Amino acid sequence: MRLGIIGGGQLGAMLAEAGNPLGVTSRVLDPQPASCVRRVADCIEAEYDEPRALSELSDWAQILTYEFENVPLDAVQGRPDVVPPPEALHIAQDRLHEKTFFQEHGVGTAPFAPVSRVQDLQEALVQVGTPAILKTRRLGYDGKGQALVNNVEEARAAFEELGGVPCILEGVVDFRRELSVIAVRARNGDVRVYPLAENHHRGGILRWSITPAPNLGDRQDEAASIAVRLLEALDYVGVLTVELFDVDGPLVANEMAPRVHNSGHHTIEGAVTSQFENHVRAVLDLPLGSTDVLLPVGMVNLIGAEPPLEALLAIEGVSVHRYVKAPRPGRKVGHVAVQGPDRTTVEQRLARVRELVAEHEQ
Ligand code: AMP
Repeated sequence: MRLGIIGGGQLGAMLAEAGNPLGVTSRVLDPQPASCVRRVADCIEAEYDEPRALSELSDWAQILTYEFENVPLDAVQGRPDVVPPPEALHIAQDRLHEKTFFQEHGVGTAPFAPVSRVQDLQEALVQVGTPAILKTRRLGYDGKGQALVNNVEEARAAFEELGGVPCILEGVVDFRRELSVIAVRARNGDVRVYPLAENHHRGGILRWSITPAPNLGDRQDEAASIAVRLLEALDYVGVLTVELFDVDGPLVANEMAPRVHNSGHHTIEGAVTSQFENHVRAVLDLPLGSTDVLLPVGMVNLIGAEPPLEALLAIEGVSVHRYVKAPRPGRKVGHVAVQGPDRTTVEQRLARVRELVAEHEQ
């Protein structure tokens, strides 16, 4: 079996690795494939929308998938051999489309208003209230391309700072915690949903998570129903992630990623079938595997720099994934999964890993 992957970062590497035991060979298209993917897959070094490179990949592969959401739409639209469906990319690439899509399918969002010109800000602030977050509609990630604003002066300054590009103004959600739901849909419509992860961010970047999130009550079923609704609306194939805010009242959706997700890295060690393997299975039309997480599992991102490997490995129950990427402040260079026989032990080990990581983080 031959899988073409658009995008050569760590997620592409983890997809290629997950396919390997199933006899799936992967080839990756990326203008600058990161060293992490080079170690595990063949690479075609070209722009994502370079027609000859795309043809080469698509002639070779049975099916094409992608590992990041800013794949140029022109490159994939109208191609039946690309899954998840390019329509999911079209929606996820634009925060306004995304929030509108959520609302159309009965999924709650923060109050929002589009801002195309500086003149729109006043009206948008009235609609959304303050404090609010001004976000660029496109190309924002890890908290980049957004600013907290309290009044029209701040909003004007932020709009200018963001380059005057089309934006969305969102009300600040007073959430208790952040959760994510990762679900996978097969070509025959079979859907499996992973237990919800509780995610902890700082500076807009995911720092660590624990799964299953504690004290879920009926949130698991609620999130699963959101995921199923969105998957079915898109006739989706593959893994979809929805980031959620846990508030008083129904869950609020923040954004979706039509791909495998950082908050699902714990599934490599912690789930019966990892998100990566299930994505590979789904896109290659193979039966899906169990999404059960039998014991709580933690995940800590290594950001900007890594603690000494020996110090990490000295903590019981950890599995280290180094991406072998050049370290840079704010860049994810690896992650650590933390396992144990029960939640208390996992939490204690997680605390030790977080402490060690925080000493080295940049
Ligand atoms: P995003 O780029 O939309 O994923 O935002 C990054 C992080 O900013 C989220 O994980 C939240 O911690 C925070 N955030 C984003 N939007 C909102 C909002 N409307 N209200 C409160 N916090 C938010």
